[in-house]
Amino acid sequence: MQTKQKIFIVDDDQDMIDFLSTCLESNDYKVQATSDARDAVEKILKIRPQGIIVDLMMPEKDGFELVRDLRQEKSLDSTKIIVISSKTYEFDRRRCADLGADGYITKPLNPQTITQQIRRILDDQIDMTFWGVRGTLPVPGEKTLKYGGNTSCISLEIPGENLLIFDAGSGIKALSDKMMEWNRYPVIGKIFISHPHWDHINALPFFGPMFNQGNEFEICGASHCDISMREMISAQMDGVYFPITLKEFAARVYFRNLAEEEIEIGEVKIATKLLNHPGKCLGYRVTYKDRSICYITDNELFNEDSDFYNPFYVKGLIKFIQGTDALVTDTTYSDEEYLSKVGWGHSSVSQVVKLAHKAEVKNLYLFHHDPDQTDDDIDEKFKAAQRLLLELKSNTQCIAPCEGDVVRL
Ligand SMILES: [Zn+2]
Ligand SMILES: [Zn+2]
Repeated sequence: MQTKQKIFIVDDDQDMIDFLSTCLESNDYKVQATSDARDAVEKILKIRPQGIIVDLMMPEKDGFELVRDLRQEKSLDSTKIIVISSKTYEFDRRRCADLGADGYITKPLNPQTITQQIRRILDDQIDMTFWGVRGTLPVPGEKTLKYGGNTSCISLEIPGENLLIFDAGSGIKALSDKMMEWNRYPVIGKIFISHPHWDHINALPFFGPMFNQGNEFEICGASHCDISMREMISAQMDGVYFPITLKEFAARVYFRNLAEEEIEIGEVKIATKLLNHPGKCLGYRVTYKDRSICYITDNELFNEDSDFYNPFYVKGLIKFIQGTDALVTDTTYSDEEYLSKVGWGHSSVSQVVKLAHKAEVKNLYLFHHDPDQTDDDIDEKFKAAQRLLLELKSNTQCIAPCEGDVVRL
């Protein structure tokens, strides 16, 4: 029998201790607590818990001091420290991280999600969720029930960091519904747009958290020469095409034009790469500690015997995705379909499988399926990918994710 993970709570509010204890104990954690921060270190050293939850604003000794003191104890090196506070300022979050906290959760706490938030930090795992796996056009209906009919959107929840979203196809509506249900406040996130084709931006106005005051989002992507990210997003909401304009967002919304570059957000590094697709399209590699995820859509690789095949580009892309834990990539067509779609900006099963194999990708996620494909067609693409990986004696695993699937990395 597995021993229960121990968690120690330090909070001057007994109601908060009771609430957290109830949530955690019902999920099989063993919980102990004190409301007096002054002798907390002494008690914690005796118990040696796997996780410590610390309130920030406490009389006599506040959470900053307590985190600092706990981090000076060598025997607690592997213990995760999570700060819980109603203070939503980025300064406090970063200060706690600098002092050695592994995570920062803001109040009010939601009984449905708090244990999951704590678990993610304790286990130091990334949750990657697929909200839409289709390309080009949403296709709801009985033939798309298995994989879902929504267009591109995935989210990454990384311990101690802000929410990262990739693309705002119609899948982002399901993420929005989930977030409204979680009622987490405030939400600070970054939305990375691969490129401004409809299936990657057109559901952004339906992302509910944008209309809540106190939330904050940065929308990042490649500008198109003289057209900035702000202009590309606002153009689809200028009144003629959609009645709600950017001004109606109640959250603080910023825009950032990206080139091929590398940015850092706390412990997360995000590198970008221009992809082979009409207009400017960016692929992303997200690195957190020893793990990485590559989001590469939309992208045309071309068959190796084609005049358009560009070995220099493919070599660069292999380098960019080399050894990644998860490659989420444009596999729009079967090999047969691709022959009549050359030059449309998307890739076929065997092109993608060969790329993943050469780059020693650990897990290949087939993504951005053609709207004319049924669930059965995607099953066939998946089988074809597996056959080729077997033929290549590849170590790469292939997955055809469905809408709503969560992958823990
Ligand atoms: Zn697309
Ligand atoms: Zn596109």
